[in-house]
Amino acid sequence: MKTRPTGPIELPSTMLVKDLAEILTVSPNELITKLIASGIFANINQVIDYKAAAAVATELGFEPSEAAPPPSVSAAKTEMISKSAENHPRLARPPVVVVMGHVDHGKTSLLDAIRKTKVAAGEAGGITQHIGAYQVETADGRPVTFLDTPGHEAFTAMRARGAKVTDVAIIVVAADDGVMPQTIEAIDHARAAQVPILVALNKIDKPNANPDFVKQQLAEHGVVIEEYGGDVVLVPVSAKKGENINTLLDMVLLVADVQDLKANPKGHAVGTVLEARVDKNSGIVANILVQDGTLKIGDIIVTGTLSGKVRAMFDDTGARVKTAGPSKPVSVLALSEVPTAGDQFRAVADERAARRLIEEHRDEAASANAVVSLDTLYTQMQQGKVKELNLLLKADVQGSLDALRNQLTKISTDQLKVRLIHEGVGNISEADVHLASASKAIIIGFNTKPDGAAQRVAQNEHVDIRFYDVIYKLVDDIEAALKGMLEPVYKEVVEGHAEVMQIFKSGKMLIGGCRVTDGKLTRNALVKVLRGGKEVATGSFGSLKRGKDDVREVNTGFECGLTVDGFNDLQMGDIVQASVKVRV
Ligand code: GDP
Repeated sequence: MKTRPTGPIELPSTMLVKDLAEILTVSPNELITKLIASGIFANINQVIDYKAAAAVATELGFEPSEAAPPPSVSAAKTEMISKSAENHPRLARPPVVVVMGHVDHGKTSLLDAIRKTKVAAGEAGGITQHIGAYQVETADGRPVTFLDTPGHEAFTAMRARGAKVTDVAIIVVAADDGVMPQTIEAIDHARAAQVPILVALNKIDKPNANPDFVKQQLAEHGVVIEEYGGDVVLVPVSAKKGENINTLLDMVLLVADVQDLKANPKGHAVGTVLEARVDKNSGIVANILVQDGTLKIGDIIVTGTLSGKVRAMFDDTGARVKTAGPSKPVSVLALSEVPTAGDQFRAVADERAARRLIEEHRDEAASANAVVSLDTLYTQMQQGKVKELNLLLKADVQGSLDALRNQLTKISTDQLKVRLIHEGVGNISEADVHLASASKAIIIGFNTKPDGAAQRVAQNEHVDIRFYDVIYKLVDDIEAALKGMLEPVYKEVVEGHAEVMQIFKSGKMLIGGCRVTDGKLTRNALVKVLRGGKEVATGSFGSLKRGKDDVREVNTGFECGLTVDGFNDLQMGDIVQASVKVRV
């Protein structure tokens, strides 16, 4: 029998049960039994967190430590933010919280209920304004900022643009409905962003609420609550009746405090544009979140390639404010064009600094967005740009997902680990593309397609989507990419058509006298001859002439003489179609 190795061991912050079994050299069954003994009900394909893994590892004689998470774009940006304030004391700042979960589980109701606690406390004088986020105070007077666009789509869209905005994610689960597909999505999105999770078990007032069932389901998805030996805080609430909202806020602070969130209120403001719109009366209104420093009236802010002087600021009660410190959401009038949601902004000393920053941004934008694609994966691995291949898997049915997951998790190499950041049944959605973009992941569609919006976003964000209908082909492709052998994929794009108007004879050769009806014909094009809608020949041009001269291309409206290699049967009325191969 093999003796099991023991001693120091590094474990990731989350991992699949079966991966852990491999690391610890125990059988999956043995591991699952041990997990159950410590109150964690996970099957072989589920994700568990470091704490749970470490507990079992310790029991088996290992000395576990947590591996540092891989650096991300958002981490780099955060570092940029903190550098700006290096020379000043950094003070505690309020946490910024996002609310995510399945549709109808009560995200909006919860955000309303939280907001109302503040009104009930007699704090707000004005009419509440929608400015993308709001701040409330807990019973003991500590502020908490909530992003008031619920849902993981907005959260991840922002992250895709490099913005790390949130410190805590509240996952709302309805106690009468349980864990649903978008609950899992929300969990995966929070995890991919490395944002700590807190569960609000909502609708506990309902007679058919079943908290124990939901807790069990959460454990099955790797969200192990404290009661079950994990470290995820769960608060039962009723958004409708306003029950337990104060406890929820206290728990948010508890989860936030572990992170020791700090900022320097004395520095120049840095933050993120949450949303922006054109207002008939005021002009461009940008709702922003200050993340570090303090923004003041008269400051010049730069975002993307735009800049402007802050003329006025309003808080979430509609009141005019002169300054906005860390974690404060405000609505600002400053810019002359609409900025992009999710872009960072920065306050600078003067116009010159603003121009310099805009120049830098242009340079950065040109070189940024080092996207991962299967075609370039090997080069990126060699250059040390990727160490983990993140995959997002969508399939037509659960059975395919299970099979694919099995295969894919096996093909990690020493150099590069294959990591599944999200999987699901159904079409590839816009949220999937944002998640992939934010996590530099490749999307695999197995017998499934992207919807229209997803396709557009994928093009804009240069997200590589691959489609497959056989498993071995997918596994082959990824293995080939890891070994740097992937054949590039080409697509034929039609460039133009010509109609044969006359036939000339030159010796035995038949030459088509044609007119180009649309697009153009190029000398190196791939040629198809169509007769009555049917293809009668394919090949390349034997010759392409204008008058007596060989030419490289002939454009719409012009006439030309042509022959097709290996085909000597052109007839009047034939359509000659020219296309080129484009790498996709
Ligand atoms: P969202 O889609 O997640 O934003 O969900 P909503 O906040 O729109 O809530 C969906 C439905 O659930 C609405 O009809 C709410 O009135 C109801 N609802 C939300 N929270 C509760 C709750 O705590 N108890 C009960 N009984 N109903 C709730």
